[in-house]
Amino acid sequence: MQTIYLDNNATTRTDPDVLAEMLPYLADLYGNPSSMHTFGGQLHKKIEEARAKLADLLKADPSEIIFTSCGTESDNTAIMNALETHPRKRHIITTRVEHPAVLNFSQHLGRKGYRITYLPVNDAGRLDMEMLTRSLDDDTALVTIMFANNETGVVFPIDEIAGLLEGRGILFHTDAVQAVGKLPIDLNTLKVDMLSLSGHKLHAPKGIGALYVRRGGRFYPYIIGGHQEMSRRAGTENVASIIGLGKAAALARGFLTEEAAAVSRLRDRLEAGLLGSCPDVRINGDTKNRLPNTTNISFEYVEGEAILLRLNEYQICASSGSACTSGSLEPSHVLRAMGVPYTAVHGSIRFSLSRFTTGEEIDRVLQVMPGIIRELRQLSPFGRGSLTL
Ligand code: PLP
Repeated sequence: MQTIYLDNNATTRTDPDVLAEMLPYLADLYGNPSSMHTFGGQLHKKIEEARAKLADLLKADPSEIIFTSCGTESDNTAIMNALETHPRKRHIITTRVEHPAVLNFSQHLGRKGYRITYLPVNDAGRLDMEMLTRSLDDDTALVTIMFANNETGVVFPIDEIAGLLEGRGILFHTDAVQAVGKLPIDLNTLKVDMLSLSGHKLHAPKGIGALYVRRGGRFYPYIIGGHQEMSRRAGTENVASIIGLGKAAALARGFLTEEAAAVSRLRDRLEAGLLGSCPDVRINGDTKNRLPNTTNISFEYVEGEAILLRLNEYQICASSGSACTSGSLEPSHVLRAMGVPYTAVHGSIRFSLSRFTTGEEIDRVLQVMPGIIRELRQLSPFGRGSLTL
């Protein structure tokens, strides 16, 4: 049985072309790019080529890209940079539906005495813009709002938020880990100050990320040590993965429009098929402003984990909530913030597709799902009709 991988918001397959480009730098070309000798020093040029490719995908200047170890590091760095830039300001605005890389770090800063505003979302997962406007004050150092939600795929109005903040002396960071490679992003026109991304969400390997920092402001490094990355992020460069991320960015640029349309057609087919074949099913989140590859579906009166286990028997990989919180059996903080009913939160499954997803794979899921749901509902103590909550 072939694995059907529909968990691409958790991580993606490394593209074979990315891997091929990386391999020499994991084998023979193992030098240190900071070395004086040619063997190491030649790698410096490869890093700069990768930086240029990533900048090209984002329509940024290469000097605005800092390589990091992951999306989480990029998020933490961006937040700390804002606080260092505005040492007298103590207020951060974010949302209730951020990834833990922002949410838990904000809570950590809250415990250290910073004032954190967590903006609510409505039942479609859309941001309350009025509340954002009302929350801004002279003490606000940073607004950090994700580009697209990892659980529902809902895309936030980053352009509108940037417009609202322009000229107010407040830094704007967006966690675009789920958006880069899936949506076109033009940082020439999109006025964000900082943007985080992560290699393993766009077919590069795990353990490589980047932070975009707009030219003009000061930058305070978070990881302090050597002079790598123009003294903006210390630590010997992860050369092979940086080269891989550059290649992944170049591939994403080529695939972006066509791929996004093909992937969203498959996602829509999956959704329509499930809605048509399983009763008591709902799609969570704004279906108009959504990543092309993501659907978050609630199967009422069943446990999401039970569905995942049954899917696993067919070698179908999906996810309930975010991979970082699944396993804790805590209901998704994103769906709770959206006010999704208890029975629907517990039966929610995220399917996230990629350019490697095929129509046959979607058909296979549609073939097995109705039986799984029927069976589980018969077994469930929360079976349809017996729930009194
Ligand atoms: N932000 C978002 C929206 C994510 O989905 C993730 C990973 O799932 C991260 C940040 C963290 O990225 P990384 O796994 O590279 O640390």
